[in-house]
Amino acid sequence: MNYKSIAIDGPSGAGKSTLAKLLASELGYLYVDTGAIYRTVGLCAFRRGIAPEDRAGVVAMLGTFSLDLKHGEDGLQHMYLDGEDVSEDIRRPEISMYASAVSALPEVREFLMEMQRGLARRQNVIMDGRDIGTVVLPDADLKLFLTASAEDRAQRRYAELREKGIATDFETVLADMATRDKNDASRAAAPLRQAEDAVLVDTTGNTLEESFQMLLKTVKERFGE
Ligand code: C5P
Repeated sequence: MNYKSIAIDGPSGAGKSTLAKLLASELGYLYVDTGAIYRTVGLCAFRRGIAPEDRAGVVAMLGTFSLDLKHGEDGLQHMYLDGEDVSEDIRRPEISMYASAVSALPEVREFLMEMQRGLARRQNVIMDGRDIGTVVLPDADLKLFLTASAEDRAQRRYAELREKGIATDFETVLADMATRDKNDASRAAAPLRQAEDAVLVDTTGNTLEESFQMLLKTVKERFGE
């Protein structure tokens, strides 16, 4: 049986994960957050005291840890590093930076490729990340590229972190996001870019509900429902 896949790419804070989760639950698809996978590799480097820019060190680390992704009854994705549920730990701002740095290494991207593709072979998925429509699932049934102004995106990320009780200030969030966006877009390996056949959705100034309705309309048009 051929399963359907929807790829959602875009810079951080564009609302990818929130919207992908809502869409997945509306359509009954599995939501796969690929950023969480890169974050788990970043966390592993952090815990082992390996600098994320130390290519040889990070490459030597690959294959020496176990990485698992499981979906709970609630449909939420949990990440496990060597058997420990690290779903909360990977959200820390310093781990965002580690994830961004390790994700620039082609060896890391290659290492995680099959895990991501395998998930899309076994069920209908909505997968979000930076290179899903361009590299991981080039044959996705629908590709969405989500974006919003830098201020809007930083504002959302700031609110999210505060809600989780992570101490930070807006200026730091904005600056960290700009650094990560630059890393993601300028790296040689699978840089963040819109696939030619992706639908561009700009969520600047939208409420969550407005963005969700925009996406749902696009999905329905594509899938003829
Ligand atoms: O999406 P999220 O912000 O959680 O991703 C963390 C980091 O992982 C991003 O800054 C990006 O560098 C990297 N990433 C990636 N490719 C993906 C998903 C995430 O390079 N498909």
